[in-house]
Amino acid sequence: MHILLVEDSPTDADLIRQNFLRLGKEQWRLTHVERLSNAIAQCQENSFDVVLLDLGLPDSDGLETVAEFRASVPIMPVVVLTMMDDEELALQVMAHGAQDYLVKDQITTQLLVRSLRYAIEREQIFQQLKNSERKILSAWEQEQELNLLKSSFISMASHEFRTPMTTIRTSVELLQKFDRELTEQKRDDYFERIKAAISQIIHLLDEILLLGSGEAGGLRYQPEPLDLEKFCADLTENLRFSHSQHCTITAEYEGDCSNAVMDAALLWHILTNLLSNAIKYSPSGGNIRFSLLCQSGTATFQVQDHGLGIPLKDQSHLFETFYRCSNVGKIQGTGLGLAIVKKCVDLHQGDIQVNSELEKGTMFTVTLPIEPSNSK
Ligand code: ATP
Ligand code: MG
Repeated sequence: MHILLVEDSPTDADLIRQNFLRLGKEQWRLTHVERLSNAIAQCQENSFDVVLLDLGLPDSDGLETVAEFRASVPIMPVVVLTMMDDEELALQVMAHGAQDYLVKDQITTQLLVRSLRYAIEREQIFQQLKNSERKILSAWEQEQELNLLKSSFISMASHEFRTPMTTIRTSVELLQKFDRELTEQKRDDYFERIKAAISQIIHLLDEILLLGSGEAGGLRYQPEPLDLEKFCADLTENLRFSHSQHCTITAEYEGDCSNAVMDAALLWHILTNLLSNAIKYSPSGGNIRFSLLCQSGTATFQVQDHGLGIPLKDQSHLFETFYRCSNVGKIQGTGLGLAIVKKCVDLHQGDIQVNSELEKGTMFTVTLPIEPSNSK
């Protein structure tokens, strides 16, 4: 047992030391200091099992001594040494975090040893209690977070599913009711609306599945050799084809990007989400710049648009599930795309940054290691 004795009176310190001498040297080791400041410094440098603390010291007096010591050294059993047998003082001392107190002129070897052992044990139990309290609190917080996610999912789902479902129902009803009276053009129109609504539902379900639990969802990291430049060229070509209406996409490639080892499916989610956001949130069109730079083992992807921009207050929440910024207006979305992007970037041990100015445009920068660090 390593004991720190904090006692300024040489006579009292000697008395305590004699008690320990009777125990035999192999069982204990005593370090003696005379001031509270020295005691705190000792505890920061060495590890002790227990502290015997006199209340009246040159640099501190009374209950302050215990309070100050506990504040600086919170995890350490403390037994206080007092001059008198005072019930009141004992209670106060315990309330300030000491485990026990000993009246100096009543100390016997037996009493001393028992008090120290109890103090150590009590402190251990106290720490265990504190640990389980911390665990319970963190489990509770996790559950709260999950509940929040659930309720935001329910309110989002009821809204996001309801709109396309209603479109489908009304279109079908109209088709049924007025089939004969409808022109071919009108009929096609309703079928197109139904198809768009179904696509919207499928998109929503796909995103939810992706973000769902690891096994059910598709987000697993499976790196494979990949020619990044070709991959990006194919992807931008596809997007140009499907979103040709109002935006142009220019792509730039720099460095040797032909020998990457990445997860193509995850990379696809990252880039399609960023590019389709860039298109979607540029309602008045413009050019979307997409660039890829491969150098020093890192691939840097940038997607820059000249669209709505993201309000500063929303920027720190972008990657949260279901989060949509305050300036989206009537532009449709579920707020899941960037949460998926973030997961895919994390699985690659990469990084994502956003730079955006309201009504000027947005630039997302994703950096990913060209190959997994353990594959070298
Ligand atoms: P979806 O899940 O269909 O992608 P979404 O586009 O609303 O829906 P995210 O892609 O996660 O969701 O984007 C979250 C929010 O961030 C968007 O709702 C939008 O407010 C904002 N945002 C994302 N990209 C841009 C961008 N390029 N310009 C402006 N705002 C953007
Ligand atoms: Mg999106």
